[in-house]
Amino acid sequence: MNVTEMKNAKADKYAGIRKVISMMIHCVDCDDEECALMPYCLDFQDLLCHQEECFEKKCNLRFGVAACDASRKYLRHCLSCSKPECPICAPLRIIWPEGDEDIESLKEHLDAFREFVL
Ligand SMILES: [Zn+2]
Ligand SMILES: [Zn+2]
Ligand SMILES: [Zn+2]
Repeated sequence: MNVTEMKNAKADKYAGIRKVISMMIHCVDCDDEECALMPYCLDFQDLLCHQEECFEKKCNLRFGVAACDASRKYLRHCLSCSKPECPICAPLRIIWPEGDEDIESLKEHLDAFREFVL
């Protein structure tokens, strides 16, 4: 792998992490059976239900594309990360800016998941 390929692989991985976080935030409020994000929406709905009762540190359960352990790891990162330039979660902070009254900030969204993160 050359440097550019490695950079791209990393960027893909980070984009994947952001997708997982976005889906979890989406699913907290979504109960639309015709949701445009189906079938992934349903996978993450199942995951969220499971995580309310899951207290296993290394849980390897998956619901379609949604994995319990990995998604928790991503949430943990976003909850504890404060790097303004973080290549993983900074773009999410642009989507959910602080101080916009109509849009809850990323932090507020993530607070909903705090209890899922062991
Ligand atoms: Zn949905
Ligand atoms: Zn689990
Ligand atoms: Zn970060």
